[in-house]
Amino acid sequence: MNHLLVCVMCLIITAGCVKEQPKQALENPQQSTQPAKAAVVVPTFSGSRAFELLVAQTKFGPRNPGSSGHAACLQFLSNEMRKCADEVKLQEFTHIGYKGERFQLTNVIASFNPQSSNRILLCAHWDTRPRAENDENKSRRDEPIIGANDGASGVAVLLEMASLFKENRPRIGVDLVLFDGEDYGTEGDIERYLLGSRYFGANKPLDYNPRFGILLDMVGDKFLDIPKEQHSLKYAPDIVDLVWRKARELGYPQFLDEAGNLITDDHLPLNEAGIKTIDLIDFNYPDPTNRFWHSHKDIPENCSSESLEAVGTVLTHIVYTQTP
Ligand SMILES: [Zn+2]
Repeated sequence: MNHLLVCVMCLIITAGCVKEQPKQALENPQQSTQPAKAAVVVPTFSGSRAFELLVAQTKFGPRNPGSSGHAACLQFLSNEMRKCADEVKLQEFTHIGYKGERFQLTNVIASFNPQSSNRILLCAHWDTRPRAENDENKSRRDEPIIGANDGASGVAVLLEMASLFKENRPRIGVDLVLFDGEDYGTEGDIERYLLGSRYFGANKPLDYNPRFGILLDMVGDKFLDIPKEQHSLKYAPDIVDLVWRKARELGYPQFLDEAGNLITDDHLPLNEAGIKTIDLIDFNYPDPTNRFWHSHKDIPENCSSESLEAVGTVLTHIVYTQTP
């Protein structure tokens, strides 16, 4: 037996002893000075399942307020959430449209661990745009869009997360909120955008104070790049840091380490209501021309499961590593 081998054996024996320690501590709890820290298990987010959920929404056709696709998709979303969440609330409100129509709008609020006061809020809009003002074909600009990215992508990520939460209950409380009426207004008519998030913010119970919120919008682009949206940097720089640090740790280059545009989106009414919220949004669809946005090119073929997986995995890690 040579010297090297003896050392190797010593190492093995030492390693063996170290390994045994937690077991002894468990068997003799009085002798244990430090409780064993449970490892955090983060479930795997499936981009392909999320992509199926994106396609499922687009199969209803356009989901603009008042359309048959809107009604059918609401049924689908509430059914999917009811399969997974501890509590699902449909927050209904009305909006008078441009032609005097009375629209019934609905925010879907799915809660996990509803009794916990340590909560986070994840949200996206589920309605789609009633027109396509950026479409290259001028004769089709007044037709409603399918909204695979602008609408279905963020919702798809949240639905897939709901199914993970069902199987692996998070340690904190989580609310998944799907806003209606985000994209109703004509360009520049800001009062008729963000209808669901405004209603949600205005009716927020005084004792509902999640730690923070994360909004997902247009996160399905095949060529995903998400810079740091500027209102988010202003209202919640620490949450921007949290998300970008996690993305870097997990190796997702889609999260760009640079400031992006200032974007009016559903995170603004939430910040005004006191919930500090960031917006994860890719406003280069498919490139800096952003030409697929609000056009009939916003279809599943221009989105990808890899993009949904990048965003979903980062968010899943954030939820499961939050301490209660
Ligand atoms: Zn939009």
